[in-house]
Amino acid sequence: MTTKPEKLRIVGVFAHPDDEGFGSGGTLAMMASHGHSITIICATNGDVGEISDPNLATPETLADVRKSELRRAMSVTGIHDVRFLDYRDSGMEGSQDNNHPNALINTESAIVINQIATILADINTDIILTHDPSGGYGHPDHKTISSHTTSAYHKMLGHDATTKCALYYVCFPRSDFQKVWETLYELGIKPPFASENLNDLGTPDELVTTIVDVKHYVNTKIESLNCHKTQIDPKGPFEQLPETMLRDMMSTEHYQLAYPEYYKIDHDILRKLSSI
Ligand SMILES: [Zn+2]
Repeated sequence: MTTKPEKLRIVGVFAHPDDEGFGSGGTLAMMASHGHSITIICATNGDVGEISDPNLATPETLADVRKSELRRAMSVTGIHDVRFLDYRDSGMEGSQDNNHPNALINTESAIVINQIATILADINTDIILTHDPSGGYGHPDHKTISSHTTSAYHKMLGHDATTKCALYYVCFPRSDFQKVWETLYELGIKPPFASENLNDLGTPDELVTTIVDVKHYVNTKIESLNCHKTQIDPKGPFEQLPETMLRDMMSTEHYQLAYPEYYKIDHDILRKLSSI
């Protein structure tokens, strides 16, 4: 007689609609197909980004359109619990939007940490996925959500040193970033950001603890990413990358098991789940 695998409660905490997709969309699809329960918390509505096609949204409707796109993307992935904290997108570093009073980065930390901690505790979460401290390419909202989610994790658990809840950072390994940037240069395409700081981009490779093979979920991942229509520019630099390279990169997802400390020794729940 085989024992039924335990059904886990997983929460992804991200800054903007589509942040869940490239780095962890395959893992989410895999978890959903295994019957685990998944909740997505999205802190802002991505309301200051560029609109890829003016027929899809106006600056005034963009927040609502992006919320619908995320709900659709998650439905494709098999996730039906999507919660928005409704903060304003803080914009790229150095932009005017950084100063808006409702921007996520200008909201008192304790308020956001409390909101996240309350949801994590209500759900009795087993696994948390969020941005890594580098924020991938350094977006201020990514870094803020990484820090607030880490604080919420500690707040939720109080002093319980025996917790079974694991916090993972979604990583974009630095070497992957560098490969993409090199390819863009070879193709004569200007990378979209941070072309001068290639040595600061992404997660240092040595911090990655967990590699998840999601090749069987790449089609779902792509279908889900394609729901974020207002963020897809067919002429954008990433769209020009060779398809095999993109598919290859999308087939593997990287994580850093951040907490609890004692899990790092011999208990990596995400690695175990991905090998089932
Ligand atoms: Zn983002």
